[in-house]
Amino acid sequence: MANPKGKTSRTRTRQRRANTHLAMPSIISCSNCKKPTQAHHVCTSCGYYKGRNVFESKEKEKK
Ligand SMILES: [Zn+2]
Repeated sequence: MANPKGKTSRTRTRQRRANTHLAMPSIISCSNCKKPTQAHHVCTSCGYYKGRNVFESKEKEKK
């Protein structure tokens, strides 16, 4: 059986964990309404994704 030769020290573990962190979501401006929105996601303000309306936004329902 493959076994580690020595115990991983607290320092080694912490040095490894130092690089595991959450990445900030990339924010782009919407191609339709130019508002900041998350990349590869449907725009939350106008409901557009890849140049077409995916869902009716709440703002349009009021009008
Ligand atoms: Zn938009």
